[in-house]
Amino acid sequence: MRSGGQRVSFTRRLLAWYARSARDLPWRRTRDPYRVLVSEVMLQQTQVSRVSEFYPRFLERFPTVQHLARAEPRAVREAWDGLGYYARASNLHALARVVSRDFDGRVPENPQALLKLPGVGPYTAGAVASFAYEKPVPAVDTNVARVIRRVFFGRETGTRKRETNVWRTAAALVPKNGKKAWKFNQAIMELGALICVARKPRCPECPVRTVCRTGKRRGRRLDV
Ligand code: SF4
Repeated sequence: MRSGGQRVSFTRRLLAWYARSARDLPWRRTRDPYRVLVSEVMLQQTQVSRVSEFYPRFLERFPTVQHLARAEPRAVREAWDGLGYYARASNLHALARVVSRDFDGRVPENPQALLKLPGVGPYTAGAVASFAYEKPVPAVDTNVARVIRRVFFGRETGTRKRETNVWRTAAALVPKNGKKAWKFNQAIMELGALICVARKPRCPECPVRTVCRTGKRRGRRLDV
């Protein structure tokens, strides 16, 4: 299959699967940029089940970016206790102060502006732009990179050059319509979290197997 056709087919299958199988997660029910940002920072190194527990509590204590900006570091640390990797909370707190002071309390929507905020890397910038503002931009985290590598390159690991290609492929895949882009980014992440998992990808039940280089190869091996 030529790469354009593979991309179209992949996206169609992925979105159909997501419509059937998406988990109902609290941060998927909001477009509030601050709430999206908090979820993204929490999810960076913590499992979904644990974040689901801490996320509402944290937002109850700091419901807006201004509340967080005004908080004492000790209070932020206390609210983060149990999530680990405290540097994330510290960056989030610093970010809230910058947004409150320099952006009138509004989290920027442009990925380039987001990238300048404390603790924000390319993934988080793309995720906030897409999940809060429905911008048609890619958001490539570990799960997404793994799916793209396996589907389009038939590989497990990436060289620096290949990682650049992963971002390029993600950018080419993201639908131009913002709402559809939101769904696409959620869907590819969900596939990486539930089906195309790191250790043992669940190829036999994967919705994109017929257009996946790795899936097809694994299928051939199982057939012999
Ligand atoms: S077919 Fe297998 S390797 Fe390909 S995306 Fe699905 S789970 Fe991942």
